[in-house]
Amino acid sequence: MTAVELSEFVRERVRSAERVVVFSGAGVSRESGLDTFRGAGGLWERMRPEELATPQAFRADPEKVWQWYAWRYRRVAEALPNPAHHAIARLEAVFPSFIVMTQNVDSLHRRAGSRNLLELHGSLARVFCERCGRTRDMGEAVAESPSKPPACDCCGKFRPGVVWFGEALPEETFDQACEAAASCDLFLSVGTSATVYPAAGLIELAHRGGACLIEINPEPTPFSRLMDLRLAAPAGEALPALADALERCRWPTT
Ligand SMILES: [Zn+2]
Repeated sequence: MTAVELSEFVRERVRSAERVVVFSGAGVSRESGLDTFRGAGGLWERMRPEELATPQAFRADPEKVWQWYAWRYRRVAEALPNPAHHAIARLEAVFPSFIVMTQNVDSLHRRAGSRNLLELHGSLARVFCERCGRTRDMGEAVAESPSKPPACDCCGKFRPGVVWFGEALPEETFDQACEAAASCDLFLSVGTSATVYPAAGLIELAHRGGACLIEINPEPTPFSRLMDLRLAAPAGEALPALADALERCRWPTT
C-alpha cells in the first residue's frame, strides 16, 4: 500500500484526538506466521484447539495440554514482530494517551515496543498456579519441565496464562478496556473479524462513545458500515501507511 488518504472529517478528528485505542486480533500476527494454531506442520497439526484449550482438557490430560502450549510457546518465541506491530508501537509517541488492547497471546506488541498494553486473552509468556495464583515466566517453566506442568510450592500446578474456551476474560483488564473504548476519540480495529464477544463489544462501546472509527481488515466485518475509514488490506501493509498519514496529520511540519 503506497499512501493512505484521510478525508477532511477524519483529519479533523485525528488532529484533535487525545485518547486513542488500538484493538488488535489475529490478523496483526498473520505476517509473523502466527495467525493459526495449526499450519506449520508437525506433531500437533491435527489437534483441534477446542479440544486442548479448555479447563476440562487440562484436568483430563495436563501433560498433553502442557506439551501443546510448550510447542506454541516455542513457535511464538521464534516469531518476530512484523511491520504492523512496529507501526502500532511507533504511534504511541504521537498521541497523549494511547492504549493497545489485543486478543492475541503472542506478546509481539510488547516485543515491538508497545508499553500501554491490555492483553484481553492473557499471554503465552506467563503461567499461573491454578491453586494459589502465583505467576511465573513460561520460558523458565518450559525449560524446567518440558513435558508436564511444573508443581508450585503450594502443591498446585502451573497452567498456561491464557484464557481458555469457556472461561471469562480477566475482569480488571476487561473493565479497563471497556472504559478506554467508551471514552476514546479515535479507535482503530485491526486484523479482527470482530465476531468474538465480548471483545467485539469494545467496537460498539467506541461507536456509542462517539469515537472516530478506523478498520483495517482484508474482509468486511459486521462493523464495517460504521467505520469512518476502512482499509481492506493486510495489517502489515496498511498500518505503516496509516501510521505515516496519522503522523503527517499530527505533525504537519515534519
Ligand atoms: Zn501455588
